[in-house]
Order: sequence, then C-alpha cells, then structure tokens
Amino acid sequence: MNWHRKKKTGDAGMAEYANIVIDISHEKLDKVFQYRVPEHLQQKLAVGMQVEIPFGAGGRKTTGYVVELTDTPEYDTAKIKDLEGLVEGSIPIESQLIALAGWMRKNYGGTMNHALKTVLPVKQKAKEKKQRFVVLELSSEQAKEQLALFEKKNHKARARLLGALMEQSPLPYEVVTGKLNMTASVIRAMGELGILHVEEKRMYRNPFEGMKKENRSIKLNEQQQEITDRIWQEFEQGHHHTWLIHGVTGSGKTAVYIELIEKVTASGRQAIVLIPEIALTYQTVMRFYQRFGDRVSILNSKMSPGERYDQFERAKRGDVDVMIGPRSALFTPFSNLGIIIIDEEHETSYKSETLPRYHARETAIERAKMAGASVVLGSATPSLDSYYRGMTGEYILLKLEKRIEEKPLPRCEIVDLREELKQGNRSILSERLQELMKDRLEQKQQIMLFINRRGMAGFVSCRACGHVLTCPHCDVALSQHNNGKMVCHYCGHEEAAPKVCPECGSGYISGFKAGTQKIEEIVKKKFPEARVLRMDFDTTRNKEGHEKILSAFANQEADILIGTQMIVKGHDFPNVTLVGVLAADLSLYVSDYHGAERTFQLLTQAAGRAGRGALPGEVVIQTYHPEHYCIELAKEQDYVRFYETEIALRSMMNYPPCGHMMVMLVASGDEMTAALSAELLSKKVRKAQEDGKISGLSVIGPASASVAKVKDIYKKVIYFKHADYQELVKIKDVLERFVSTHREFANMVIQFDFNPMSGF
Ligand code: ADP
Ligand code: ZN
Ligand code: ZN
Repeated sequence: MNWHRKKKTGDAGMAEYANIVIDISHEKLDKVFQYRVPEHLQQKLAVGMQVEIPFGAGGRKTTGYVVELTDTPEYDTAKIKDLEGLVEGSIPIESQLIALAGWMRKNYGGTMNHALKTVLPVKQKAKEKKQRFVVLELSSEQAKEQLALFEKKNHKARARLLGALMEQSPLPYEVVTGKLNMTASVIRAMGELGILHVEEKRMYRNPFEGMKKENRSIKLNEQQQEITDRIWQEFEQGHHHTWLIHGVTGSGKTAVYIELIEKVTASGRQAIVLIPEIALTYQTVMRFYQRFGDRVSILNSKMSPGERYDQFERAKRGDVDVMIGPRSALFTPFSNLGIIIIDEEHETSYKSETLPRYHARETAIERAKMAGASVVLGSATPSLDSYYRGMTGEYILLKLEKRIEEKPLPRCEIVDLREELKQGNRSILSERLQELMKDRLEQKQQIMLFINRRGMAGFVSCRACGHVLTCPHCDVALSQHNNGKMVCHYCGHEEAAPKVCPECGSGYISGFKAGTQKIEEIVKKKFPEARVLRMDFDTTRNKEGHEKILSAFANQEADILIGTQMIVKGHDFPNVTLVGVLAADLSLYVSDYHGAERTFQLLTQAAGRAGRGALPGEVVIQTYHPEHYCIELAKEQDYVRFYETEIALRSMMNYPPCGHMMVMLVASGDEMTAALSAELLSKKVRKAQEDGKISGLSVIGPASASVAKVKDIYKKVIYFKHADYQELVKIKDVLERFVSTHREFANMVIQFDFNPMSGF
C-alpha cells in the first residue's frame, strides 16, 4: 500500500484526467466520460465546474460538469480527448451541488455515483395529478355551534377536524389524513352532515396551493429577540457561522427560526429547514405555512421521486423560498441559499445509513460554506458532538432557558427494579407504576408506556444487582451470541457467558427480553377494562398503520399506548398525564459508546410527552441503575451536567467528539474470506504504523459486526481512532485504492462509516 501519494483523487488541482457528465438528469448519471486536463487548467479545475468538451465522433462542442478528478486513465490514453476550457460566468446551482457531492464522496467514502444520486433530484416524467381539498361548508357562527355539539357528544375526531377547518379552509386532503390523523370515514361522515365537502382540482403539485396565508406573527419575548438579533446582525454583515440554540421544548425555538427565515427571505435569499420526519407534525407545518403561505414547500419520504423532483424544480425556478423536510431536503437546489436550519439536531435520522453515509449536519455546514449561508442548529438535548463544538467555539452556543408559558416540566420518579425483585415483584410493571396507571384509568386520563427496542442487541445483566457485563478494553456492553459467548463489537474480545453474576453471585443473570407484544399481554391481563393500543414495527408495517394508531389515540379511543421510540417523538397528546419508561437500561447498554447519550435524550423526550395539555404530567422511569449519572440527570433534566460528565468519559476513551472514529466493514458470502480479508487489511495498517508511516492512530479489531451474519453475508468490522478526521480520510483513501486494485476483493463489500451512529 502506498501511504504517501502526492496527488489525491477528488482534490482540486493537479489531476491529469477529469471525469465528466454531460447531462445531469438521473438516467445518464451512469455515463461518465473521461477527458485529459490540459496543463494550463490543471491548477484551476475543481469538481463541480462546468467545462467545454468535444463530444462524439464529430467532436461537436458541448458542455458538461466535472464530477471527479483522477490520475488514473480509464481508457486507452491515446483515445482520451482534451477538454477545451472552463465555462465562464455565473455558477449554476448544479455546480455547487456536484462540488458538494465531491466533498461527500471524499469525506464519507462510497462512489461518486452514489454521491451524485444523493444530491441531484431524480428526473421523471411528472404525471398530472389531481389534488383533493377538504372545504368547510359552514359559516363561522354555525361552525362554533357545531363544534360545541361535537364536544358535548364527545366526538373527539370530528371536533378536532372541525377545529382545524375553522382555522384554515380549504385544507389539502393529505394534510387532513396525514398530519391531522383523520380517517377517511370521519371525513365522509362529516361530508354527509353537510359540514364539509371534498373538492378535486387539477393542479401543479404544490401541497399548499389553495390555502390562504394569514399574517400571524407573534411578538418574540426578550430572550428570543436577543438571539434572533444576534444571528441576524452577523448575517447582515456577511459573517456566516454555525449557531447552536440549546433550548428546552416549548422555549420558542421554532418562533426564532420563523423570524430568521422571514428576514433572510425578505433579503432575497432562501431557507432550508430540516426537521426529522417523525416530528414534522401538522402544527409545525401550519406554523410555517401561516407565515409564508405558498412560498413554502415540504418534502417527505412518502412522496414519489416525481413529486420530489417537482418540488426541487419549483425551488430552482424560484417559486418557493422555504423548503421544509427531512435529511434530503438539504439538497434543495436554491440558487441563493441564505440559511439552513436543523431542528432536533441530535436526531440520529440525520445520519444516512446508506451510501454515502453522510451526516446532514456536517454536510449542511459544508453546503452553507459553499453558498455563503448561515446554519442554525436547535435542540433541547443537543448531540454531544454539537455541544462540544459549541464549547470549543467552532459553533456559537445560544440558550433559551425559559419555557414560553412557564409551564412546569413534568414530575419525574425513578423506580429501582432491583428493589422490586427483592419485594418479590417479577413483573415488568413496578408497584408504583401500576398504582399510577390505576389512578389515571379511573380519572379517564391517558397513559403511554415506552420500551426501547434499540437495546435488544443482547446485553446480559443481573436483575438482582444491575451489573452489566462490559468489555474490559472498550467500556461498552458485551453482546451475547448464539454460541453462548459474550462478544465486544469494537475489539472482538470474547468471554464465556457466566451462570451466576460475577458481582453478587445471584442466578438472575440473563439477557433482558421484553418486547412490546409481551408488555401488551401483561397490561391487558392486569387492566382488563383498559383499551390498549400497541405501536411498533409489526403494527405499523402497512402504510397507514402508523397514522391510524396515532389518530385513534389522539381521539381518545384508547387509554394506553404501548410502543417503541416511535411514540416518544414529537407527538402532542394533551390528555396524557402519565408516561412509563419500562426499562431505561435497554438503551444504556447498546454495544457502542452512544448509550448514555441516547438514553438521556430518550428519557428527556419521553418525559416531554407527559403533561402537554392543561393537566400536569408525571413520569416513571424504571431501571436497574438508578444511580447511573444519565438516569439521575435525566430525572433532573440537567443537560449541562450530563454533558460535562459524559464528555469527560469520552475524552478518556478518545471517543467522538473528543477524537474521530472510522469503521471499515468487510463483508463476504464466505465466512473464511471475510475473516481473512479483515485480518489482512488490519495487518497492513498496523504494519504501516510500525514502520512509522502513520502516527496517532489506534486500530481496534477486527471483530464481528453487531449483527455478524445477515442473509448469509458475513460481516467483520475494524475500528480506527484518530484525533484528526482528515487522517482517517487518508487511511480510507489508501484502503479503498488497495481494495480496488486487488482482485481478491472483487466479490466482497468494503464500506466505511465515519463517526458511526449505529454501526454496520
Ligand atoms: P420550541 O420550538 O422550542 O418547542 P415553540 O416555538 O414551538 O418552541 O414555542 C412553543 C409554544 O409557544 C408555541 O405554541 C408557540 O406558538 C408559542 N410561542 C412561542 N413564542 C412565543 C411568544 N413570543 N409569545 C407567545 N407565544 C409564543
Ligand atoms: Zn448481580
Ligand atoms: Zn472491546
């Protein structure tokens, strides 16, 4: 392997050949043509630039985009033509996005093709589409009377829909069934009563068309105004930073975003707002709409590629100024982007789990740099990563400390499950939780029970003393494998599964297994009169399952909602006054270093579900580790102390954000091949270390991936830690090149993931 190369693929300047796409519509992305870069252009040329080239047999002059620079000719060098020159003048948005794709390929691995397909929208023939709207038929007087009637009869769903229509009519049908969680039968029934009608209209696809804009600006309070002014002043002076707003839920972050977008768009520039899909609720969407009318558009994962393409075209044409959506909205082709806002910036969904494995936050910062734009991150529980950068000054940290209506945070209680066992209660429901559930059922208030599925990775713990088997080298939980062995997924350390607890000698040592289905059975047995809903992967598999369940619960057709993390995010159920976290430890002992961070976030979010309406809320956290700092501090809702404790531990272990980590996946259909190749590759790197060619690196593994075998593919992983991200990128480049030039790797999958969130 060659560890010292002067020229690197993908860097600007000095490359001999340029790979060029002629037409960046999706279908032809696969066709890349190679040209020779004339000497006088070698210094200037960079990925993303538009160039003039001779094309085809006749050498007709045309233009294309540089997608990659390389020193390796892919054809007979005698046949490679010279490119002619740069296209001067204004830089089209495509250039910027292609340059961004180049940056992504370089920093996250994968091919240029993967990266291009991620940043450029898929062009498809747009089918003409009829959009339906729900229109209110009543005058506002009549509507008020009707609303009172529904409320009296306790027709919750109807009352909610009528209420929404009184605020805004017409409403797009999808908004009513989607974000508002109404079933078709409710809409039909209200149609038959003459309250509303459904109207069809042929239209260009704008989900908000036909809705009226109301200028309902709210006056910011002092703390909101202060941070808005601060960000705006810098913006106006052309100083673009990454800002991190740390503010509890309900402290008015969204109102700040809206105010900033207002200013940015008034100055002629555009805004992208990233919101995790699961938190993209009706209320949120309407708040943006009411302020920006049809200048705002929204993306979601249910849209067909054609619908997404339409939204991107509208953005490119300048029909909209604001795009709201999940991760992929980041690539909206705005030509004069001014601001990117990332709400709930700690969410793991901002990291892509397919190639390229990019993080939307880092990529947003890069895009903003290219566009001369600002980035605003917001969260009640910022990622350790962002807060760390806030502390080091890379981001600018701003705080919103008070809640808007000064609503108290819910009361939090911790139940020690070890004590329960001592008292002879072996149920997953503690005595205290059962008592509170009984009380809420009597009072006709709602309950949410939350179990974290993420933790089912197979850690083994003692139910008598709480002891968890962890790796002596890596400080992460060991996972039990089918062969009975306990394995570390970072370093491969193995030990036999114990029969008794090494800490207290109790025989209650085992894997923790309790799924939502099991819990549902237990709850139904204990409270036969309660109406129970369950939301998990099984019950939400079909397209509408998810919304039906939420809608039924919102309409109070059930008393108890049992679910995985799906239920704790973003939803607003005012009648919920009790939230039970059944086993907080399940996310604490995931086999990677994020356990405490995820648990703190989940507990804070779960707690945030209780007491959102007029009634105060209560939270019960059941755990085997009541003394764990993350559980204690979640109870206190003390983020800053949590951060300080956690960052000290990360720093000790050189885990991100105090250092950087890269994982390399080596996968093969043959177990031996996977194992030997992983061994070979890690040895190569270790050899280079010994020879002094690389310094400051630690190589860990190879080990079996957390799911070692999937569909007959055997997976091995090697971890690399280094203080400098770019050093890891270099190692990736060398390994990638080594693998691509050695035939024995031809049938294997080799992939990289930087600062992994969930691992392979
Ligand atoms: P966050 O995004 O931090 O959760 P929001 O911006 O959603 O907070 O604000 C919470 C609630 O308070 C919303 O209902 C919002 O309309 C309201 N609100 C926000 N700012 C103000 C303000 N300055 N005056 C009155 N109400 C406000
Ligand atoms: Zn024990
Ligand atoms: Zn280990």
